[in-house]
Amino acid sequence: MAPAKQDDLPILIAGGGIGGLAAAYALSLKGFPVRVLEQTAEFREIGAGIQLAPNIFAAADRIGLKDALLADAWQPPAMEMRCALSGDLVTRMPLEQEFIARFKQPYAVSHRADIHGAFLQACQDSNLVSLENNQRVEDFEDDGGGVTAILQDGERVRGRALIGCDGMWSRTREKIIGDGAPRVSGHIAYRAVLKHSEVPDDLWRPDVVLWAGPRTHFVHYPLRRGELYNLVAVFHSDRYEEGWNTEADPSELWQHFNGQRPEVLRLLERIETWRMWVLCDREPVKDWSQGRVTLLGDAAHPMLQYLAQGACQATEDAVALAEAAAQQPEDLAAAFRNYQQARYLRTGRVQIMARVYGEFYHARGVTAELRDLMLGARTPQQAYDGIAWLYAGG
Ligand SMILES: Cc1cc2nc3c(=O)[nH]c(=O)nc-3n(C[C@H](O)[C@H](O)[C@H](O)COP(=O)(O)OP(=O)(O)OC[C@H]3O[C@@H](n4cnc5c(N)ncnc54)[C@H](O)[C@@H]3O)c2cc1C
Repeated sequence: MAPAKQDDLPILIAGGGIGGLAAAYALSLKGFPVRVLEQTAEFREIGAGIQLAPNIFAAADRIGLKDALLADAWQPPAMEMRCALSGDLVTRMPLEQEFIARFKQPYAVSHRADIHGAFLQACQDSNLVSLENNQRVEDFEDDGGGVTAILQDGERVRGRALIGCDGMWSRTREKIIGDGAPRVSGHIAYRAVLKHSEVPDDLWRPDVVLWAGPRTHFVHYPLRRGELYNLVAVFHSDRYEEGWNTEADPSELWQHFNGQRPEVLRLLERIETWRMWVLCDREPVKDWSQGRVTLLGDAAHPMLQYLAQGACQATEDAVALAEAAAQQPEDLAAAFRNYQQARYLRTGRVQIMARVYGEFYHARGVTAELRDLMLGARTPQQAYDGIAWLYAGG
């Protein structure tokens, strides 16, 4: 049998999370065959909420998936910040008509499984995308004419190029950049999802609500057309080195939220089982492409979740990458450099600003007073102006 010409070979994607599936689908729309190699036994996302800013909808619109992302989402009327000690409203940003008029797209909150499921369905409906489980990419070789992904069991998978969408602890990144383990931020997130019926009526709010406390914050919002309620409690702790989606110790949570408003404590009390995340990020870098191999999403620019942008940026990456590849299908190495050039400053800015927002949310004393003064004085239009670099960019 004659060897396949490299142009006939598929583009390989390591990792089938939100970024990997978005990239697979966006590339398939440009006519590229794609193989998604996912390490787990099935394609799925853990149960927790995710905020979707206008910039993800602008990106999803370019690949025809905006309606699919919105189908089961909840569109909150506003986002507000309250002081977790006094209960006072610090600031409220309306998310309805004037917001949509400004950013041309809505703001929504959704279940991660619903967003991942929308990208998965699109990939399953494409005859150019092959979805493959139990395939852990350990290494790769780029010989200039193509790329070979080396799987954990030693199998070698040949492709035209490789995109590392393998998340925070990316093997692909380790080989391209080699910057070691992610930076442990010292912030821990406890997450839980309740049914609507489990939330007391007087505590259920249609908005995204953030309770800012000293070295803590607590966020809640409805999910899945309002049927579910998402809770995220974040606090500072040096106890953990790293970890992901492990069962949490609620007594630690109580130590950190002790003394906060009854609205916060009563909601925290409703939870029987929390899942815990040790929040990590990395320093921004720019050289995340090497020949026919590049990175995308958390593998390229892992960020703290304080701007609620990791999945939004991964989706923007996917669309930008597919557009760059379509412009230079004969030279994917050059296309990957162009994609990286178009993306690194924006994603680096989100990585840095997410840290700043985290400090802002957890401020104490005079810093907290200043925060409240500055944010409280803004009109909605000024609030929109302040975040336009992010929501209207991309
Ligand atoms: C507490 C918290 C709240 C968040 N809230 C938001 C939010 O509101 N809005 C938002 O936009 N983002 C949010 N994020 C960020 C968002 O979840 C991530 O940025 C996003 O999911 C990254 O997607 P990804 O596809 O790049 O990586 P991942 O979701 O990590 O997917 C990586 C995939 O690759 C697979 N994999 C890993 N290694 C290999 C390998 N060697 N070979 C094959 N497969 C492999 C994994 O199994 C996984 O399926 C939040 C994150 C956290 C922790």
